[in-house]
Amino acid sequence: MTFSHDIAIIGAGPVGGALACALAAQGKTVLLVDRAALPPMEHPDFDGRAYAIAAGCKRLLDMAGLWEALPFAPCPIEKIDVTDGKVGRPASPLQLHFNAGDVGEGAFGWIIEARSLRIAINQRLRATPGVTLRAPAAAQVSRDAHGVRVTVGEEVFTAGLVVAADGRGSQLRGQAGIAVTRLNYGQSAVVCAIAHEKPHEGVALEHFLPGGPFAQLPMTGTPAHPHLSAIVFTDRHETVKRLAAMDDSRFLPEVRKRLGEHLGEVRLVGRRWTYPLSAMYAARYYDTRLALIGDAAHGVHPIAGQGLNLGLLDAVALVELLAGAADCGTPELLAAYQAARRPANMLMLVATDALDRLFSTNNPLLRLARDAGLAAVERMPRLKRRFMLTAMGR
Ligand SMILES: Cc1cc2nc3c(=O)[nH]c(=O)nc-3n(C[C@H](O)[C@H](O)[C@H](O)COP(=O)(O)OP(=O)(O)OC[C@H]3O[C@@H](n4cnc5c(N)ncnc54)[C@H](O)[C@@H]3O)c2cc1C
Repeated sequence: MTFSHDIAIIGAGPVGGALACALAAQGKTVLLVDRAALPPMEHPDFDGRAYAIAAGCKRLLDMAGLWEALPFAPCPIEKIDVTDGKVGRPASPLQLHFNAGDVGEGAFGWIIEARSLRIAINQRLRATPGVTLRAPAAAQVSRDAHGVRVTVGEEVFTAGLVVAADGRGSQLRGQAGIAVTRLNYGQSAVVCAIAHEKPHEGVALEHFLPGGPFAQLPMTGTPAHPHLSAIVFTDRHETVKRLAAMDDSRFLPEVRKRLGEHLGEVRLVGRRWTYPLSAMYAARYYDTRLALIGDAAHGVHPIAGQGLNLGLLDAVALVELLAGAADCGTPELLAAYQAARRPANMLMLVATDALDRLFSTNNPLLRLARDAGLAAVERMPRLKRRFMLTAMGR
């Protein structure tokens, strides 16, 4: 059977968008549909949101030609400090320090502005001849063993495979009857950016607090703000609701209480965002001529900044499996995709869930045990090395 496109992708978020660019770079024809318009996703101003991209996941962005197209330079994460404490008190002296140089690498990964990735994806999508983009548009998808039919308004397209990259609430996943399991954390995340007086020296901080982890992630400065960092912290819903209602002058001291003094004077740049947190996983990653990818397949706690990274690794697996495939939607190929990605993603879900449960507590025994654990890992070079490679997505 001949199809109008090799692959249809529903959802042009960072995962679906990057996958489309990578497949097109490989010579595949791709139909990409998003219900939202793409240009408004390009916030012209710095908006305070950023992603931590692990070193192992940069590969997909390279394959897709996106890394070189990023309009704002990514900031390398050269060191990671892990500390434990209480809001407003100095961190426990039992700490963990990771240095990318210890495993012969220049960086664990990079912090890239969300708008930078969005702008690069939008530009590449428009400049790549193998991609047919329809956005904003509603897609009706029907599938059987022989192929996929996608109706967009008056247009009808066909493909050998449809990829659901339509995020956590994936309609395609629901239509396929694939069950999801959700874990609720009772936590929300606050995301913002800060300008600070002293340079961050490429150091990321993960400070575990009873309400949830607080992360400071180094960003590339701008002429107006030479020293910049992204802040992502989680806390109980009620606390985050209270923080969200505060004006900047009352919110900033809350950031300082969690961050400490090491960056000197700090002030907010851009706006603040809040997200309720949950984890979820799909029972299967495929159905007849359908593959789930990114947040449509899994969602993890942002404690380790791995959500998008897992989606990019899903995309790498699909691109590699589809490379030599004459028919992109065979059951064998889809089973191989699930085998390549589901166990690894489940492991990350379990690990981030366990980390959150272990650290987001005030139980004195658990606090003692985890501080001793941090100190013990600090003295175990082989285990430390394994942790570092995992953080790099290797
Ligand atoms: C607070 C917070 C901080 C985070 N920090 C990090 C981090 O530092 N590093 C990291 O790796 N990850 C991070 N993540 C996770 C990351 O944001 C997500 O994993 C990532 O956005 C998933 O991308 P996606 O393309 O799979 O889905 P989405 O970004 O949800 O995109 C889905 C797309 O599908 C479209 N769509 C939806 N339904 C339809 C439909 N029916 N038809 C057509 N189109 C549709 C939507 O318009 C959207 O464009 C964080 C998450 C949170 C909440």
